[in-house]
Amino acid sequence: MAQTAQEVLKWIQDDDIQMIDLKFIDMPGIWQHLTVHRSQIEDESFTDGVAFDGSSIRGWKAINESDMMMVPDPKTAWMDPFMKEPTLSLICSIKEPRTGEDYDRCPRVIAKKALEYLQSSGIGDTAYFGPEAEFFIFEDVRFDQTENSSFYFVDSVEGRWNTGSDEEGGNLGYKPSYKGGYFPVAPTDTLQDIRTEMLLTMAKCGVPIEKHHHEVATGGQCELGVRFAELIQAADYLMTYKYCVKNVAKKYGKTVTFMPKPLFNDNGSGMHTHQSIWSGGEPKFAGDQYAGLSQTALYYIGGILKHAPAILAFSNPSTNSYKRLVPGFEAPVNLAYSQGNRSASVRIPLSGDSPKAKRLEFRCPDATANPYLAFAAMLCAGIDGIKNEIDPGDPLDVDIYDLTPEELSKIPSTPGSLLDALNALEADHEFLTTGGVFTEDFITNWIEFKLDNEVNPMRLRPHPYEVALYYDA
Ligand code: GLU
Ligand code: MG
Ligand code: MG
Repeated sequence: MAQTAQEVLKWIQDDDIQMIDLKFIDMPGIWQHLTVHRSQIEDESFTDGVAFDGSSIRGWKAINESDMMMVPDPKTAWMDPFMKEPTLSLICSIKEPRTGEDYDRCPRVIAKKALEYLQSSGIGDTAYFGPEAEFFIFEDVRFDQTENSSFYFVDSVEGRWNTGSDEEGGNLGYKPSYKGGYFPVAPTDTLQDIRTEMLLTMAKCGVPIEKHHHEVATGGQCELGVRFAELIQAADYLMTYKYCVKNVAKKYGKTVTFMPKPLFNDNGSGMHTHQSIWSGGEPKFAGDQYAGLSQTALYYIGGILKHAPAILAFSNPSTNSYKRLVPGFEAPVNLAYSQGNRSASVRIPLSGDSPKAKRLEFRCPDATANPYLAFAAMLCAGIDGIKNEIDPGDPLDVDIYDLTPEELSKIPSTPGSLLDALNALEADHEFLTTGGVFTEDFITNWIEFKLDNEVNPMRLRPHPYEVALYYDA
């Protein structure tokens, strides 16, 4: 892999690559791209950027100030495996053309500022993140996305997608039983080859791959395992993961969804996020406190738990996210921490004796999150916890699902809806702005964007289940 602009330029030269694909993340978290001929890329492109019109990018510039620059990061170069002509892919951050400053609504810029905040706080120099994004592979379901359509589920009472031929009779043998997807071998697991191809394709794009497996839900739920990385790189890898998974699925005539709860009454898809802070090559989370954690790690947990409702506005940013965060499906509902206990929203995985592996896993996030924003928000909350010595309280070493309602009522829970999370963000965002990571403008813009484009359109549409409930009223 290349490290510098010179190495990328040499690569283009040596392999006679004609086309360069410049990818950047928009505010909601989708990759956008512009493909340029090699003649458009030179040394300065890596410092000054390549011009493009940002006026139609969701959540960004108004039409009267639309010029923007995308600045490729040479460390992100890989040959795009899905393009017919040899094409080098580069992930970019966004700059203002007039001032030459980093654009403060660019999520990758925000992630960079989060890392700088960590460094300037003196707490550490690196933050490692390891997201575990789950997803469903479905037949190529086509649904009506027009403005006026009321909803997409074919069977609104059961809440099941019509997933194509499998459901239409025929041989129903070898199907995973309800919640039985984790993880019998073939022929029950029909997705082995496609997952292997997804994983190996990711490796070709420079992602350090580890494993893959079927997940618990019956309808083709899967997870691929990727090694943790430094904050920005981990977010880059996650975007590459989604890109590879979706495009390999397309080759097989299938589609992939990362939406957290596509199936009613079955497990949803999370994006548990492992995290730790390091300083001078030393792990800051290992110590002699609870579960082998340091006091720093416990304060970090205190920050995460305190600010969780606001963090969720970034880490669980869809209306569908809150259909996953309900009891009974291995998704966390209660804001507590514990060693090993998967029903707590912060878990400290057993890491043997190795201080290097000491980390915590925040289990709330899902992969509708823009990873740059979600990781930045989590890191800011952790830093706030450390700076203000926020006590996380006692760990919860019982299965939360076994507690009585009275015991449960003492544990704070995750917000019930995206609206609740956005309200929490509005009320609690100083921890995001004090270090200059998120601007006030960004947060206001985010809340408005989510209300106008997701919360309200969803709220205003009659739901098919309402028809089942009320049609004959
Ligand atoms: N699918 C579960 C979730 O929604 C997680 C299952 C697991 O522990 O991997 O968080
Ligand atoms: Mg999983
Ligand atoms: Mg996990």
